[in-house]
Amino acid sequence: MSQITKNVKKILAELPPGVELEAAAKGRSPQEILEAIEAGVKIIGENYVQEALVAYQVIGARAKWHFIGHLQRNKVKKAIEIFDMIETLDSLPLAEEIEKRCRLKGKVMPVLIEVNSGREPQKYGVLPEEVEDFVRQITDFSHLQVLGLMTMGPAFGDPEEARPYFQETRRLFERLKSLALPRVEMKYLSMGMSNSYRVAIEEGANLVRLGTILFGPREY
Ligand SMILES: *Cc1c(COP(=O)(O)O)cnc(C)c1O
Repeated sequence: MSQITKNVKKILAELPPGVELEAAAKGRSPQEILEAIEAGVKIIGENYVQEALVAYQVIGARAKWHFIGHLQRNKVKKAIEIFDMIETLDSLPLAEEIEKRCRLKGKVMPVLIEVNSGREPQKYGVLPEEVEDFVRQITDFSHLQVLGLMTMGPAFGDPEEARPYFQETRRLFERLKSLALPRVEMKYLSMGMSNSYRVAIEEGANLVRLGTILFGPREY
């Protein structure tokens, strides 16, 4: 059994019921991604549209494709051809572009709102205090469907330090759910990476994005 196969099986056995595994595949070859899929991964997360297109040529619809990087508006047209979900909706102009392109294609794109839970100026994502207004602004975009929230949170050596950011994102998630906005279905809370997924799950994550722990160390 290859190392990737072993890693995937171990994580799948460990995740509690209701928590979905997403393999964060940046920098990995289509072959490595296929190994992960054969071992049981059902969702692939990609940060770069170009890299995803290359992998998609080989893998196609054998997995669901989630976009987890910063999506530039000029990449939306290509992105909507292969992605099943965009987890990183972070601005109104981007929402408008996805709405426009999906309307032309007759497609509805599931999206998560990326929350900049650490309020880090250099990071993308909607500030926690602005998420509710943002969601209200896009509820009548009929070619987008809001399905939840995603956050990275600040990077820490000790995952315990990430806990308050996951907690805040969870509170926002519950608040939005309680509002029961039209066409908004708060279903996914995407939080946690290789070093923090256990804490993220304790704080309510039901979609964890794992790269290193599945594929080994990477160059970028
Ligand atoms: C790379 C990446 C991950 C996975 O990171 P690891 O630390 O390798 O598990 C998760 N989410 C996003 C958005 C990423 O870019």
